[in-house]
Amino acid sequence: MAENLPRIILVGRPNVGKSTLFNRLIRSNRAITHDRPGITRDRMDGVVRRKDMPVFGIVDTGGITLDAHAMVVEGPEGIRGFEQDILNQTEAALKDATAVAFVVDGRDGLLPLDEHLAAHVRRKGLPTLCVVNKVDGAEHEDERMAEFHALGFPLLAVSAEHGHNMNALVEDLTALLPEESSEEPPAPPTLRLAMLGRPNAGKSSLINALSGEDRMIVSDVAGTTRDSVDVRFTKNGKDYTFVDTAGVRRRTKITDNVEKYSVNSAIKSTTKADVTLLTLDAAEGVSQQDKRLMDMLNTRKTPFMILINKCDLAPRNALDQLRKNINELLSFCQHVPVLLVSALSGKDLHKILPLAQKIHEECSVRISTGKLNRAMEEVLTRHQPPVVKRSRAKFFYLTQAESQPPTFVFFVSDSERVPESYVRYLERALRKIFEISHAPMRLHLRSSH
Ligand code: GDP
Ligand code: GDP
Repeated sequence: MAENLPRIILVGRPNVGKSTLFNRLIRSNRAITHDRPGITRDRMDGVVRRKDMPVFGIVDTGGITLDAHAMVVEGPEGIRGFEQDILNQTEAALKDATAVAFVVDGRDGLLPLDEHLAAHVRRKGLPTLCVVNKVDGAEHEDERMAEFHALGFPLLAVSAEHGHNMNALVEDLTALLPEESSEEPPAPPTLRLAMLGRPNAGKSSLINALSGEDRMIVSDVAGTTRDSVDVRFTKNGKDYTFVDTAGVRRRTKITDNVEKYSVNSAIKSTTKADVTLLTLDAAEGVSQQDKRLMDMLNTRKTPFMILINKCDLAPRNALDQLRKNINELLSFCQHVPVLLVSALSGKDLHKILPLAQKIHEECSVRISTGKLNRAMEEVLTRHQPPVVKRSRAKFFYLTQAESQPPTFVFFVSDSERVPESYVRYLERALRKIFEISHAPMRLHLRSSH
């Protein structure tokens, strides 16, 4: 196999169809297989091609099967040895793997050895696709797939024997691989910021103070509306862009007609940004629009912070009161940071951009499934799920489904038995363990019976 090709390893207990799958993948793509000297005879390497271009190398650990069967007949000791043998071989194969095709048997369903091997694979933190083999017909396909969700890997049903879904398999496996580096040099990363707040709160003053002398107004890019005037600048070696600042400016003129200040168009600019800054006026307090905005940002899981501007105008006790009001309004999103600043005096402006960076970094975290499941054990042990309708929900498995914002899925026996208060406990605990203090977070519970 070409050494520079990414390698996908077929892992699975004996008889699930790995060898059949391997042959099918190789043959259907007219690739050449050969033995690799120096590698145990039991391992088969081949190259999977697409339109005659090699896409990835595939490694089959299938040779274990024969030995394994031989050992099974030897009785209980043999079976333990056999499991260990599979684990050892899998372990060796995983060492230089780029991704894993975890093969299971759709007709047998999920067996303990599948779960055992899957746990092993998860600990590696490699991108993994669960290939549900022997789904020879469409009937009962959904039913058969359901229990494999518990493994927490994305699933694809195939039939190696009948060649069903082989193209989709190559496509899904290719999707596991790291993106090829493109020809174009990537644009230097910039942190995109949206500035919201009612007219006169000091949005323009803040943008000017933060961007300083070196700002570049990027306006009227062909094909975009006049509203998309971006302000791009560099601070401490990092690149930032305030998006849609034309909207900010225009609205400043509608000082006497607050109703015209449109929450919806404000929200729109947040979708173009990595982090949103909501500016309030310390002298004016929290307006109805501000409340609506906070509510919407929270519901939409927008990463945001609150700036209480014009602190130079308000006495200390008024600021304390304002902060208290805001904390109450934010009781369901306590992760949102609040800064007391002044565009005029410069108070605490230096904290804004690093905080925005931090929120964005937290929002982009990817936590390995192994770490998540260790954390889940710890969190469940510290506080058991409460008894609801005479029993407790069982928690099987935790996985991260997405980032931006971090989204976690708990596979549980019965989500109805998990009260909201316990979900909030889980969120607090995960935030603490993984140090996600200011980014929004989504938690989902999925029942898998
Ligand atoms: P391995 O031990 O995991 O490599 O599994 P094999 O490839 O040797 O397959 C084990 C058995 O399952 C063989 O008898 C195959 O013919 C059979 N098999 C493999 N794929 C399929 C399939 O898609 N459908 C059915 N019905 N049988 C299959
Ligand atoms: P925008 O409508 O939100 O863009 O607000 P502007 O930036 O245009 O500011 C509105 C008014 O508030 C202007 O007169 C600013 O000089 C004033 N202003 C902005 N920030 C501060 C501040 O921190 N302290 C004080 N005292 N005035 C400020």
